[in-house]
Amino acid sequence: ALTIGIVGLPNVGKSTLFNALTKNDVLAANYPFATIEPNVGVVSLPDPRLARLAEVFHSERILPATVSFVDIAGIVRGASEGEGLGNQFLANIREADAIAQVVRGFTDDDVVHVEGGVNPKNDLETINAELMLADLQTLEKAIPRLEKDVKGKRADPATLEAAVAAKDALERGILLSHSGLDLAPIREYGLMTAKPYIYVFNVDEAVLTDAAAKAELEALVAPAHAVFLDAKIESELIDLDPDDAAELLASTGQEESGIDQLARIGFDTLGLQTYLTAGPKEARAWTIAKGSKAPQAAGVIHTDFEKGFIKAEVISFEDLIDAGSVLEARHRGKARLEGKDYVMHDGDVVEFRFNV
Ligand code: GDP
Repeated sequence: ALTIGIVGLPNVGKSTLFNALTKNDVLAANYPFATIEPNVGVVSLPDPRLARLAEVFHSERILPATVSFVDIAGIVRGASEGEGLGNQFLANIREADAIAQVVRGFTDDDVVHVEGGVNPKNDLETINAELMLADLQTLEKAIPRLEKDVKGKRADPATLEAAVAAKDALERGILLSHSGLDLAPIREYGLMTAKPYIYVFNVDEAVLTDAAAKAELEALVAPAHAVFLDAKIESELIDLDPDDAAELLASTGQEESGIDQLARIGFDTLGLQTYLTAGPKEARAWTIAKGSKAPQAAGVIHTDFEKGFIKAEVISFEDLIDAGSVLEARHRGKARLEGKDYVMHDGDVVEFRFNV
């Protein structure tokens, strides 16, 4: 599965957030045979549609899609030079598919700030500079080898060209994800600033409802997504039953927990979407890449479904709920039979027809 790596300076609340993520772990509850890794937190993608489907189909259980977060310890100034535990952690970040950078916004005199004071802009610059330097080092090592390999016709000149262009952008202080370059030829290098980013501002409770303060922080990271949460509140929320949790959330002026927001935005940032299936056994969301066609979507359930794909019967979630049953939806002409070129939509409720 695709994963989101959590990074940030020390003492910004990464562990507090990650503990909340792992306590929320859906694997233990829903996938009894899954191996649970200590540094991975798997949370469900919130999707209220599943509960509605489960009502219509009298499903025994609900299986949401999931989002995986990996805890990667703090980065300090000098990490790219191997300062402290730097390099090993950078290696872990290279393996993540997207990055969630936690930035400290909370004030607390009892919690030391490693850079001397709470200053989100400065912290962002410190981390981004370290990641850019590390990427630059990767490219400086790769380019001479690529030059040799291109001469010896063992490497594609397009790879070298992309590497040189990326190095040039980094030298000008540009994050690769903002460079507009085609980075596909150099994907294998796991360049960290080429990955999609989410910024998680760990702020005081008062900031959660302060639109102006949030807009200011958001502007520091645009066009990337920003999530605002209070990691301390998140760690309290997970220990409460749903009613009490809803009450606490409401008292902080939020409609959705920070972890739910992070799951939703993370899922989207990874380039993923879902489609739905429902029956008496389960109402379930399946994860596919955005833009997937029907046979690939079927393949997520079982490889035989993809190989033997014939058609997909698709009803949109809204039409199905309006109709109240698959039979009634068919009767109303709302059930479509789609072929192998159909591009899946979010909210499609699907039943596949296939040969075995
Ligand atoms: P990490 O080094 O980034 O993993 O940071 P930790 O999660 O260990 O947090 C460092 C300290 O800050 C701990 O004492 C936390 O209890 C505290 N902390 C974390 N999040 C918050 C927060 O949102 N508000 C306040 N006041 N303290 C926090």
